[in-house]
Amino acid sequence: MPWSGAYPSLVDHALYGLKSLLSCIVLSVAAVLPALGGQPSGTPPPGRAAAFDQLAGRLERGELSPTTQAQVNQVLARLDSLVPAGDARRALRYRYTYCVLGMDDQPARGVAYAQQGIEDARRIGYPDAEANFHYCKGAHQESLTTPRDALADYTAGIEVARHAENLRLVADGLSWRGNVQSLIGEPALGLVDFLQAQRDYEQAGEAGEAQLNLLNIAIAYRRMGEYVEARKYMDQSLAYARQRHDLRQQMGVEAQLGFLESESSDQPAALRHFAAALALARGMGDHESIGSAMLGQAEAFNLAGQYTEALAALDHAQAEFQQAADHSNQDMITLQRAEAEAGLGRHAQAIADYAKAEKLLRPSGNLRYLAELLDARARSEEALGHHARAVVDLRRTIRAREALDRNARRYNTTLMSYQFDTARRDQEDRRIREESALQSRQLAAMQRARDWQNLALLLGSLLLLGLVWQALRQLRQSRRLHSLAMTDALTGTANRRRIEQVMATAMREARLTAAPMTVIALDIDHFKRINDLHGHRVGDRVLVRLVAACTGALRDFDCFGRIGGEEFLVILPKTALETGRLVAERLRERVIALELGDMAADLHVTISLGVAQLHDPSEALESLLDRADRALYQAKAAGRNRVVLAGSPASP
Ligand code: GH3
Ligand code: MG
Ligand code: MG
Repeated sequence: MPWSGAYPSLVDHALYGLKSLLSCIVLSVAAVLPALGGQPSGTPPPGRAAAFDQLAGRLERGELSPTTQAQVNQVLARLDSLVPAGDARRALRYRYTYCVLGMDDQPARGVAYAQQGIEDARRIGYPDAEANFHYCKGAHQESLTTPRDALADYTAGIEVARHAENLRLVADGLSWRGNVQSLIGEPALGLVDFLQAQRDYEQAGEAGEAQLNLLNIAIAYRRMGEYVEARKYMDQSLAYARQRHDLRQQMGVEAQLGFLESESSDQPAALRHFAAALALARGMGDHESIGSAMLGQAEAFNLAGQYTEALAALDHAQAEFQQAADHSNQDMITLQRAEAEAGLGRHAQAIADYAKAEKLLRPSGNLRYLAELLDARARSEEALGHHARAVVDLRRTIRAREALDRNARRYNTTLMSYQFDTARRDQEDRRIREESALQSRQLAAMQRARDWQNLALLLGSLLLLGLVWQALRQLRQSRRLHSLAMTDALTGTANRRRIEQVMATAMREARLTAAPMTVIALDIDHFKRINDLHGHRVGDRVLVRLVAACTGALRDFDCFGRIGGEEFLVILPKTALETGRLVAERLRERVIALELGDMAADLHVTISLGVAQLHDPSEALESLLDRADRALYQAKAAGRNRVVLAGSPASP
């Protein structure tokens, strides 16, 4: 665990110290070595950049966790060799990995190195690297001065990561900072960071990190005296560690369960957990962990009144810590030793040890241990008859406990306000989610409505089109019927009904405008003979030819119509009698000129015509027609093929 040196003092902390961006999940050395050798067998060698990313990724995810400094150096050298030439980002990524892993025992250099990294990352605009350098700087700062001094670095890194919206990196920073808060006697603030980190890890889909973070949460709860919550998280964490066969994590949880039981006054249970932690630590061959487990055991022995066993455990723990060159637990060892001496009645020796322990405890400012020390020492003072000193220590004990109570209340307030904020934020999130779901539903409903509308529109349009088509058809049909009703079927010219209509209109107009108006009655001469000689068919064809010739000889506003078998009427609006006579003559000549030789040899037709002008506006239609008819009969009588003008109504 290359970072453990960065965290001083307390036993439980030494076990857990760091939650890091390069989470130290111990894999066996065997798992490390193939990665050092290069690509896994059987797969083609990836490009340099890809190989770099793969190795850096495995380190960052904690899939690769070199344990000895030699292994660390090997991995770093390999990573360095994979940085593609001129690749500024990967060069930085290598550098922050090196910063975290490769400078464990050189905090002053580490701080400077990280600061340079921060500036370089900022220059090329690589916020992820910048955040990691902040975290690295914090970790070195913890060793260089005190953990409290690292808070600003972690906070700066968290801000950068937040800005880059890299949730996992935010969570890493919260986890780093939470550890420091928890360590410097602010477990509630630490817990808030851990809980937030938990949410961020889960939201970022980092299930493994989230699981590892459970123990951080558990420890913070334990330090706040919230044992029920603490146990819940420890049980989860232990189950996860077992499932992953993560011995270090298992050992850590067992030790934490030991502390928990010990603080809950169940020393036999505490001793069982410490024994389990010790077995796991021995299995890993890690002196620091063995020492920590034995120190926990010693505390439980003391509380159980097994002072001799406590002293033996303390001797062993001390030896293990010495092997690991770790002096950070000297305060606790000394305190426990003093309590064991006192328990065995050796109060003078105990008081000397308490004094040493007090001096060692002071820098960490851990009130809980200080209160424990003062209380225990007061009892030894009392046993030795030093009542005045005992009273002084008891008073200090009371003050320390009062401070602890105040802290506990503050923790609760901090935690409650976090929970309140979280609940409110969750509620807000839920509201937003519900609103957006509602919006989606409304949108879908609108879309459906629009689809129906479109369909209805389409059907409506089709219906309308059908109706219009139908109406047009009817219109055409009625027009056809109308024109049929007004047209002579054989010749296509106006029929009797039509000609009578036209004549009525023309007469109304003539009366209104006082314009002249003339009609011509026209009858084919000896038509019966044509039928008799050439047949009815030829007669019909003659009728058709004759109509065409006559209509072609008229003006646009004149009207020609068939009023009976071979009798016709011509209406000449705005026309006086003389002009009517000219029109009649023209018609007669056209008919004589008709070429009918194609129907029968020597076939000729003539017509007789009677012309009458409307005499005055009061003359009736019948009278006008009658005068035209009489003129026609006069033409017949006079030998046919001629035009006769009608006389005035007064002179028949
Ligand atoms: P007139 O010179 O005195 O008028 O002699 P006409 O033979 O024309 O006299 P009339 O009015 O007696 O005879 C008319 C004939 O016209 C009778 C009928 O056979 C014939 N006719 C009437 N309508 C048609 C028709 O639609 N087609 C044919 N082919 N003949 C018709
Ligand atoms: Mg006739
Ligand atoms: Mg005739």
